[in-house]
Parts: sequence; C-alpha cells; structure tokens
Amino acid sequence: MATSVKLNTCAEMPIVGLGTWKSPPGKVAEAVKAAIAAGYRHIDGAYVYQNETEVGQGIHAMIKDGVVKREDLFVVSKLWCTFHDKAAVKGACQKTLSDLQLDQLDLYLVHWPMGFQASSELIPLGSDGLTLNDDTSFVDTWEAMEELVDCGLVKAIGVSNFNQQQIEAILNKPGLKYKPANNQIECHPYLTQEKLISYCHSKGISVTAYSPLGSPDRPWAKPDDPSLLEDPNIKAIARKHNKTSAQVLIRFQIQRNVIVIPKSITPQRIQENFQVFDFKLSDEEMNTILGFNRSFRACPMQWAAKHKDYPFNAEY
Ligand code: NDP
Repeated sequence: MATSVKLNTCAEMPIVGLGTWKSPPGKVAEAVKAAIAAGYRHIDGAYVYQNETEVGQGIHAMIKDGVVKREDLFVVSKLWCTFHDKAAVKGACQKTLSDLQLDQLDLYLVHWPMGFQASSELIPLGSDGLTLNDDTSFVDTWEAMEELVDCGLVKAIGVSNFNQQQIEAILNKPGLKYKPANNQIECHPYLTQEKLISYCHSKGISVTAYSPLGSPDRPWAKPDDPSLLEDPNIKAIARKHNKTSAQVLIRFQIQRNVIVIPKSITPQRIQENFQVFDFKLSDEEMNTILGFNRSFRACPMQWAAKHKDYPFNAEY
C-alpha cells in the first residue's frame, strides 16, 4: 500500500495527514508533535483555523529535536475567502508563512470558491445572516495563486470545496499556467463523492478527504445528526479486522487513493489514526461502505448559500 499520492507536480503527498481545524492554540503544538512522533509527515492547516503560529511551533520543535527535517514534511495551508482579491493573495500567503515560520508551503489551496468582502471578521455577515460577498472570480484568484508558485512561496497550488464545473472553469481558463494539484473536499461514508473523485482523478487532480470521521466536534452539530463513529455497520466491519471505526473510515479513503486528514488533539487517537497500513478492507467491504452514502454534509457553509459561487447546489 503506497503511503503517498503523486501530484501532477511530481511531488509525493503523504496519504494520511493531521487535520488542525478546531484544535485550540494551546493544544495544537502538542498534537503536531505527537503526530510527527507517530510518523505523520503531512500537516493540514489554514489561516481561518487561527492557530498557525502554534502549528508552526510544533513543527519547529520536532525539527530542532532532529526528529524530522523541513523537507521531510508536507505542509498545507489555505487562502481564506476574505482574501480573494488578486491584490490580497500574496499578503495572505505571506502571513501564513510568517505565522508558521516557514519559507515555503508544499501546497496552498483556495479554501472555498466564494470570495467575501474584505473584513476583520472571518465570515462577514449581513443583517440577514448571509455572507457579505465580493465580486471577485475564483478564476482571477487562481492567477494570483499561480504567481505564488512563480515567486517560490509555494510548491503547489490547489482548491478546496470546488465542484466539477468550477474545476472545469479553471482548467479552461485561457493561458492557464498551473492546473490545480489537489481538491480538498468533505468525504466519508455518508458523503462518498464518487462522481467528483472520479472526475478529479480523470484530470490528474488528487483528492483529499476532509472531515473523514464525520467531524463530530463541528460547532453546529445537532443531536439528531448521524454519527459515523457510532454507526453499527462501520463498527461491525471494524470488529472483523480488530480495528476501530476511525481506522476503518481512514482506510476506506486510502484504498480509493484519496488523501485523508483526520483531526485529533488526543495523542492516543493521533497514533491510532496512523495505524492504518497493516490491514485491508475487502472489495465487498469497500462496496458496502460506499452503499452508506446519504449525501450528508457536516460542513455545508450555509451562510454562503446565496453566493454566486456557492458550490453545493450542483449535483457534484
Ligand atoms: P474529523 O472528521 O477529522 O473529526 C475530528 C473529531 O474526531 C474530533 O472531535 C476528534 O476528537 C475526533 N477523533 C479523532 N480521532 C478519533 C478516534 N480515533 N476515535 C474517536 N474520535 C476521534 O473532523 P474535521 O472536520 O476536523 O476534519 C479533519 C480536517 O479536515 C480538519 O481538522 C481540517 O484540517 C480539514 N477540514 C477542511 C475543510 C475545508 O473546507 N477545506 C473543512 C473541514 C475540515 P479529539 O480531537 O478530541 O481527539
């Protein structure tokens, strides 16, 4: 089983990474250290998680201790929606690099296709509770992303939460210089994303599965929402392999050649989530899990539902 996915830039992206959304600043440096000690070489972050300074501290502590070198690590961050204006992109990337204390990112993603008005708020909302949008186009934003590669701030660029048509719009951009290397999307057995994954793979675009455990700690979770980690069918498959539900959910992605970024701040779970290379789900089990799809989104970003570039009205 390959432990990395080759990008269209020829770089190898480790197939399991550590998620850091909702990891509090006071905990995330230790989580990053625990992950690197457990063998993770890929850390997924973003400006909007408001913890990149501490993520950087965790990384640098492990480099200083001689556990890893910078070049052994694959560090990902994302351009937030309030910085889609072409003139704002470079500064946003530089802020992330300075917080992380790094010279270069391995991958920088456009976090969402929608641009919001420049604001001190991360999600600027009007009195109707909907986002205050700008009139930028993600195709123009993409040109500014390409410049980040050319000036050496990032090795590769990609997108996140883009639907098929939006990716197609980038691929069809006149004068396109770099194709997206990755699309990071919500993906788990309740949102299997078969069509979007197959489309991305057919275009040489790798896919990363976010919220692979169903994001049970998302702030807007409701008691009646379905729980993947508690799903009796997932538990039954896990028992057969003497593994946990989390390990089955992670293994499900890597067997489809999908990169996966479970988040945890608990050292024992961080280790557990990396122990996924010593068992295999059968084809029948993979198909059974695909059958659990119910188009359930943990991260619908409903405040932006009226945005011209809201991605989730399309079929895929
Ligand atoms: P996950 O599906 O990774 O679930 C995280 C939750 O699961 C936490 O509550 C964690 O608890 C718990 N958990 C982790 N491991 C285990 C385990 N082995 N057993 C039981 N519980 C476990 O949710 P996220 O939404 O955080 O998604 C993962 C990452 O994807 C994010 O952190 C972020 O990096 C990225 N992401 C990207 C988005 C985008 O728009 N591009 C949107 C959402 C996520 P605890 O930490 O307390 O151990």
